[in-house]
Amino acid sequence: MQDILFRPRLHPLRKIPSLDEGEQRRLYQAIQQELQNATDLGGLIYERDLYNQPGRFQQFQVGYREGKPCPVCGSIIVKIRTSSTSSYICPTCQT
Ligand SMILES: [Zn+2]
Repeated sequence: MQDILFRPRLHPLRKIPSLDEGEQRRLYQAIQQELQNATDLGGLIYERDLYNQPGRFQQFQVGYREGKPCPVCGSIIVKIRTSSTSSYICPTCQT
């Protein structure tokens, strides 16, 4: 999920040992909340469940929104390379 790191305002290239206790707690809560929200909505809109019903999750905060304004600060969302994949971040909020 692209937005799991946005909720606690963490940059995807941060190493786990660099996170203080509060950041670790907020990351843990964000993982639970984002996954719960996505499963409550039956998954992503282009996915299908065991009953072949489409998911209803499509409201990303920063995920897949390159070039659009951050919903918190208005900075332009950028797509960055993170290891073998890409991530969408707000360069102002996520540090
Ligand atoms: Zn922002």
